[in-house]
Amino acid sequence: MVATPLMNITKVETSKLKDLNLENIPFGKFYSDHMLEADYIDGEWTNVEIKPYQPLLLEPSVAAIHYGQAIFEGIKAYKDPNGNPFIFRPKDNFKRFNLSAQRMQMPEVPEEIFMEGMRQLVEIDKNWIPTQADHSLYIRPFMFSSDPVIGVKPSETYKFMIILSPTGPYYTAPMRIYVEEKYTRAAPGGIGFAKAAGNYGASMLATAEAKKLGYDQVLWTDAFEHKYLQEIGTMNVFFIIGNKAVTPSLEEGTILEGVTRDSAMQVLKEMGFEVVEQKITIDDLIQAHKAGALYEVFGTGTAATISLIKELRYKDYVMQFDTALWQTAPELKKRLNAIRYGQVPDQYGWMMPV
Ligand SMILES: *Cc1c(COP(=O)(O)O)cnc(C)c1O
Repeated sequence: MVATPLMNITKVETSKLKDLNLENIPFGKFYSDHMLEADYIDGEWTNVEIKPYQPLLLEPSVAAIHYGQAIFEGIKAYKDPNGNPFIFRPKDNFKRFNLSAQRMQMPEVPEEIFMEGMRQLVEIDKNWIPTQADHSLYIRPFMFSSDPVIGVKPSETYKFMIILSPTGPYYTAPMRIYVEEKYTRAAPGGIGFAKAAGNYGASMLATAEAKKLGYDQVLWTDAFEHKYLQEIGTMNVFFIIGNKAVTPSLEEGTILEGVTRDSAMQVLKEMGFEVVEQKITIDDLIQAHKAGALYEVFGTGTAATISLIKELRYKDYVMQFDTALWQTAPELKKRLNAIRYGQVPDQYGWMMPV
């Protein structure tokens, strides 16, 4: 395809790729040669360019740093067995990004900048897409308010950027999860459904306290009674109860609507499960566990894909699972990966060619 005239492209003279071993790379520590940058000024998007990855020069008064008008997305690119690059369901992330923008009183990013900009950036850096199992190129679009003004008000200028990070597996081992009853991630009317930076800053103390007790992450509960289950850290959660796959429903706006969540729901149906989105309490879960009907618990998200949960603790009640015996989550992961790595026909139309 031809570059849109709207976009300026400056390429690096020598790639940094030769200094990096794409095998066994940690999550989110290395960045590719190029990045996309665009500015929102006087009510329109301008200065759209792809250029060498480099630091930003910002005034210390930049509004996002003080008041957190900042949002992001997480997407992954893969190569099929012939080495052709594809991006997994980017249009869904594009729509969610603009929902987050709307909630945070930020301007929407037009489709040709977000989608076509991302496609061109990944095309330029396609050699950065690792090919071994559980590896991929993580795509991080983000936007922040950039007025050098410390009054509390929506900014008049914004920056939209995309950076790329080659990545290995996010969580490797099955996780131990602490059911959170003190801290809250999201309340109705808040920003839980948005991928807004402040959600993550607010979550870190709870996670740190769970870690001190020997847990990897928390399972968030509702703000009023701390009974209704929401999500695990930055992943959506699924429970296999009997022949049902149950995941918390979205209606209160306290849960991030994951693209992996939606993909998992479709594949679980294909696997013969009755997929149910409903409000579910910790008491419902304990009851199912006591009845011997709670078979599996797992998290879903772009970074981690599917994360197996080997222990859930609520007060003094501990639920333990032998994940080595599980059938569902490993099969789900296998099917999702087969689609993403282009090993089976893409019957859902999820893979966008680059
Ligand atoms: C990003 C995210 C998810 C997972 O969404 P995906 O689109 O599947 O990556 C779930 N919960 C939270 C809080 C998130 O930020």
